[in-house]
Amino acid sequence: MWFVLKRSMDPNDEQKIDIVMLPFMAHGHLIPFLALANQIHHLTGFNIAIANTPLNIHYLHQQNSPPWIHLLELPFNGADHGLPPGTEHTENLSLNQIGKLIISSASLKTPLHDLLLGIIKKQGKPPLCIISDFLLGWAVDVADATNTVNIVFATGGAYGTLAYVSFWLNLPHRKTDDEEFNLPGFPQRCKFHVTQLHGLMRKADGNDPLSMCMQPRLSCCLQSFGWLCYTVEEIEPFGLDLLRKYTNSPVWPIGPLLPKQLLNNLQSSSTVQRVRKSPRISPEKCVQWLDMHGRDSVLYISFGSQNTISASNMMDLAIGLENSGKPFIWVIRPPLGHDPKAEFESEWLPQGFEDRMNRNNRGLLVKNWAPQLEILSHESTGTFLSHCGWNSTMESLSQGVKIIGWPIAAEQGYNSKMLVEEMGVAVELTRGVQNSISSKHVKEVIEMVMEKEGKGGDMKRKAEEIAQHIRAAVKDEGNEKGSSIKALDDFVSAITATKQDRSVVSA
Ligand code: UDP
Repeated sequence: MWFVLKRSMDPNDEQKIDIVMLPFMAHGHLIPFLALANQIHHLTGFNIAIANTPLNIHYLHQQNSPPWIHLLELPFNGADHGLPPGTEHTENLSLNQIGKLIISSASLKTPLHDLLLGIIKKQGKPPLCIISDFLLGWAVDVADATNTVNIVFATGGAYGTLAYVSFWLNLPHRKTDDEEFNLPGFPQRCKFHVTQLHGLMRKADGNDPLSMCMQPRLSCCLQSFGWLCYTVEEIEPFGLDLLRKYTNSPVWPIGPLLPKQLLNNLQSSSTVQRVRKSPRISPEKCVQWLDMHGRDSVLYISFGSQNTISASNMMDLAIGLENSGKPFIWVIRPPLGHDPKAEFESEWLPQGFEDRMNRNNRGLLVKNWAPQLEILSHESTGTFLSHCGWNSTMESLSQGVKIIGWPIAAEQGYNSKMLVEEMGVAVELTRGVQNSISSKHVKEVIEMVMEKEGKGGDMKRKAEEIAQHIRAAVKDEGNEKGSSIKALDDFVSAITATKQDRSVVSA
């Protein structure tokens, strides 16, 4: 048997499994999948299984996943694919290694198939559907082979997901000598730029290992029964319209997948932590520090769960920040080229920086990991300097916090572009890890965005409007249902109906 049923003492193990979920092996994918599983269970009472590699299953266990979610292990050995032994997750990996992890995840296909066969044998019928990550499109073949359907879950927004999919399927940067290009699926007015592509995307020509992996996978995704997308109908009408046309299938926007307290303004008095990863500072300490500052006066800086910046950019960011005079919380990690697990060294920042910032509570440096939801939901946090990962983006927008973009990898460049051009809630400071920033530019951008009037004020108003839409989308009071609740209802009706159709065909 390829898989291990955890919680074998749990009476739920005797119950059938209605949905099998397959997230990609990264923090920013596992956590929204877990939240989606919870949301679907609360709506329908369905039993849901999340399948993944042993270390990721262990990680999900640590997040206090509830007993109705079955956590199932799929065997995986990173060393077989040229990854450091024990690698099952993107954390602490370089961009090239992340590429290898994406490619190597194909080895989960046979174990997933065997897992489905095991479930069918046990309960006499297949689950209603597989919900697979858009990076694992081969799950469509497994669904076909086991008489169920595959739904893709895009953990990004509609615009960013479409740009990412269309980029890999069309490689448009190879069809022009220009640095600017158009992407199929987007109107002519949306010009994309090579600097929005990370290193592996720039090199992609259709014959490199990552293109050869991504193209068939994403083509498979387009054969799926439908897409769930981590966004909200009202905040991304443009992106959703384009994604629906491109995929030619239903797209259900079901965001935000965030804790209820965060959306009900209960946050600063209680902790809203959803990720059990020990931050170097307690949420309470962070909140106490924020309590000492005025409304919207603090800048929060973080590059997500796994990214960092170059040593020289770190220095210039620190100088610009100091010169701006604005209070800040900055999640710092060793700069690029250093062991990401190493202790942070003071020489990576200007001399005496941390001491000066500690004086008068001017700035708080948090090593490696901070309680982000508590920080963003505190009324003192006004602006987020972010890599524009989609989880961070939704967390920020749900709190009406405007954004200074510094996209680094994945689809972050497209998210940043959409936040600037379509939503008007962001200004981009720079892109990627190769570009150099100047401390003068850092200071100017921080001052402009954090201004209460002018452009800063305008961005704030737009961010607050978006926050209202995000909160309204998950309203569920009697007959008053928000758009994301309705979309989830529609999704459930659709997969239940396909099940009936399939039983008619097989009868
Ligand atoms: N996060 C956090 N503390 C940190 C850094 C990140 O809690 O110090 C969380 C953050 O709240 C978000 C996730 O990690 O939910 C990062 O996901 P995102 O999609 O923004 O970026 P990724 O890490 O996938 O690049």
